[in-house]
Amino acid sequence: MPELPEVETIAASLRKKIVGLEIEEIELFLPKLLRGDAAELQRFKGQKIIGVRRRGKMLLLSCEDDLHLLFHLKMTGQFYWTKKGEPRDAPTHLGVSFKDLDRELRFRDVRKFGFLRCLETPSPFDCEELRPLGPEPLELDDRDFPGLISRRKGRLKSLLLDQSFLAGIGNIYADEILFEAGLHPLTPASRLSKKEIGRLWSAIRRILKKAVAAGGSSIRDYKDADGMDGLFQNDHRVYGRKGLPCPRCGANVRRLVIGGRASFFCPRCQRKKGRQKLTTRRV
Ligand SMILES: [Zn+2]
Repeated sequence: MPELPEVETIAASLRKKIVGLEIEEIELFLPKLLRGDAAELQRFKGQKIIGVRRRGKMLLLSCEDDLHLLFHLKMTGQFYWTKKGEPRDAPTHLGVSFKDLDRELRFRDVRKFGFLRCLETPSPFDCEELRPLGPEPLELDDRDFPGLISRRKGRLKSLLLDQSFLAGIGNIYADEILFEAGLHPLTPASRLSKKEIGRLWSAIRRILKKAVAAGGSSIRDYKDADGMDGLFQNDHRVYGRKGLPCPRCGANVRRLVIGGRASFFCPRCQRKKGRQKLTTRRV
């Protein structure tokens, strides 16, 4: 699933191309993509796009008159450009054409989990989908993180995936962040020392910033709206690397299923809290 760095990359490439354009036509080919009435889409005809923003893993295209299109790409949602009127393939569920442009923007989604919602509001971030989201990790003040995590009890891997804690982190970046911080995915958040909380926060910022700069990770079928692959998959140090040597210590990377999600970690660099004592005693 595209996470914060991938959606940020898509938002940036769309922003460059569509802000200032006027929507000519919106065609919906898969009714269930839209959460709402198909007639709502007609209101966007003739509207000028004034902004493209990301919130968590979602994308918000804003028009004049407080109209917004909210997209969640879920597993396999993708934007791409074609020549206007070009025949569409089966997984293409939406087409948007613009005035005075010979190309059109399309949305395809092979697994069909993605969705679109039309909003008419001056405060789109308060909508049902976006309101429950926690702070943006790249916008949160350093001083606010310790307070945020001190109110949480869950295990680190599950906590990082919880969108009400921090918005935008998914399975890949949660694993890479915990490796960077040297913390075991099953460590309860309540057992972190002050120093470990600091390490976790730096790791969150460092990994996400590096991934945004690399244009995200292209695994499975992620591409940005210009059809470009991200590069951060080349920098994955544990994610998807079961049995391969840890780049830091050489131990074999392990895979563990936590809350139904595959988690990758180094058993030596990311020791479980409490176990270290036991090992020391044995030695
Ligand atoms: Zn290691």
